[in-house]
Amino acid sequence: TDSSSPEAEQCRVRVYVRKRPLFEYEKEEEEFDVATALGRKIVIHNCLTKADLRSLFISHMGFQFAHAFAESVSEDEVYRHCAADAVVVMAMMMWIGLLLQVQHMLAGKVATVFMFGQTGSGKTHTMSGLFRRAAQHIFRSESSVTLTAFEIAGKVMRDLLDQSSKELKIREDKSGKTQILGLQGSDISSPDALLSGLTQAQGGRATRATQVNETSSRSHAVFCITKGDATLTLVDCAGSERREDATQHDARSRKDAAEINSTIFALKECFRVMRSSKGQPPYRESLLTRVLADSFGSAEALVVAIGTVSPAAKDTEHSIGTLRALQQLQ
Ligand code: ADP
Ligand code: MG
Repeated sequence: TDSSSPEAEQCRVRVYVRKRPLFEYEKEEEEFDVATALGRKIVIHNCLTKADLRSLFISHMGFQFAHAFAESVSEDEVYRHCAADAVVVMAMMMWIGLLLQVQHMLAGKVATVFMFGQTGSGKTHTMSGLFRRAAQHIFRSESSVTLTAFEIAGKVMRDLLDQSSKELKIREDKSGKTQILGLQGSDISSPDALLSGLTQAQGGRATRATQVNETSSRSHAVFCITKGDATLTLVDCAGSERREDATQHDARSRKDAAEINSTIFALKECFRVMRSSKGQPPYRESLLTRVLADSFGSAEALVVAIGTVSPAAKDTEHSIGTLRALQQLQ
C-alpha cells in the first residue's frame, strides 16, 4: 500500500471496495442491508434478523481500504444518512481512481484492474462502467488502440473476440516472457468501437458458458487495451464464493472450486511477495497470474483491485470472505 517507502520498488497495489445496492426483489424477500461503506471503511454487521440492526450489542467486522464506495443513496433507506453526504465524493473518487489508471497507461506503463467478489455482487457491472469511462478517456489522446479479450476457465483459455473459440496455448519466448499464441487483436479507432468490442467479448463469454452448461461466474475474463508498450488490463474474476458447500456436490464442481480458489490464492501470494519486495512472485502458481505476470512484474506497474460486495444479510459470509481476501491484497 505504501508506495512512498523506499522498499516499494515493485508494482503499486491499491485496493478499493464497492457495495452494490439491495435489489428490489431482495427487499421483497425481506432481505436487509448489513453493510455500511463510508470513507475508507466498510462495516459488515453480524445480524440474524432485521431487528438486530437496531441493537447496540450486535457484533460487526470493519475493514479499511483505499476507499469504500457505498451504493447510490436512493437505493437504501437504512443507510440513507451515510450515503447522502458521501455519494458525490464516492462517485468522484471512483472515477478519479480510474483516470489515474488511464494516465498511467498513456505514459507507457501497465495498469491492471481486478474485479473480485461473489457472483451477483457487481463485478461485471462495475467493470463495464470503468471500461466505458476508459474508452472515452483514451481516445482523447490516442487515435487507435488494440483490444484483446480472453477467458480462463480452469486450465483452458479461449479468445473472446474469435468466434471459432478454439483453445489458446501459451508458451515462453526467449526472454522468458509468457506469450499467448493465436490471440486475435482487434484494431480499434473510436470509443464506440471499443465498447462494441467489449459487448462482443461479453457475448462470447455468455454463449460459451451456456454451451458448456456453466455460468460465466466460473471463469476469469481478461480485457487488454494496448497501445505500444502501454496496456490497461481489466480482469473480471470468477465468483469468489466458496463452492464446496450447498448445491455443488459433484467432482467436476469441486475441481472448479479448487481451481478458482487457487487462482485467487496465487494472486494474493504474488501481491504479498511484491509488497515485501523479497523474491520472485509465484506467477507460475496459476494460469491467470502466469499470463498476467508482465502486468504486475515491474516497478512501473500499477495494480488496482476492486472488491464488490452485496449488502444482503444472506450474503454476509461471502461478503466477509471477499473483504478478508481483499485485505490480504493490500
Ligand atoms: P457479477 O458480475 O459480480 O456476478 P453483475 O455485475 O452481473 O455481478 O451484477 C448483478 C446484477 O446487479 C446486475 O443486474 C447489475 O446490473 C446489478 N448491479 C450490480 N452492481 C450494481 C450497482 N452498483 N448499482 C446498480 N445495479 C448493480
Ligand atoms: Mg459477472
